[in-house]
Amino acid sequence: MNEPAIPPSTASASADPDCIFCKIARDEIPAKVAYADEHVFAFHDIHPQAPVHIVLIPRVHIRDVADARREHREELGRLLLAAAAVARDLGIEDSGYRLVINRGPNAGQSVDHLHVHILGGRGMGWPPWPE
Ligand code: AMP
Ligand code: ZN
Repeated sequence: MNEPAIPPSTASASADPDCIFCKIARDEIPAKVAYADEHVFAFHDIHPQAPVHIVLIPRVHIRDVADARREHREELGRLLLAAAAVARDLGIEDSGYRLVINRGPNAGQSVDHLHVHILGGRGMGWPPWPE
């Protein structure tokens, strides 16, 4: 199978000085930190939708998953690896958890910095939307 066609790099994924998640990752806005390293940052969601609700971001400012480019491949991989590690650390691996990435306001994206929601600690029904 061919690789998916990824648009060429654009400037739209560059830093946004007013980005709230960049500020959290820089410790300029307080958050309850769940995990941090050189590449990713994870904190407890301020409006949790589950007993465990973590927001996980790359430190690099990428607006959303549709804005990610080939040069972000490593950061994207690190996000998934970190998500699984954070979930394990928080004790929700065995009971199951869900990773969610909202893209665009119609899908619920309210902060324009790519993030993965880690949701767990309760039964996570599927499908997640009303029938
Ligand atoms: P989304 O709606 O997918 O863009 O997710 C953004 C998430 O960030 C929401 O679940 C918010 O509750 C959460 N959030 C926004 N501001 C903060 C903050 N200062 N600290 C922790 N979580 C936040
Ligand atoms: Zn940002």
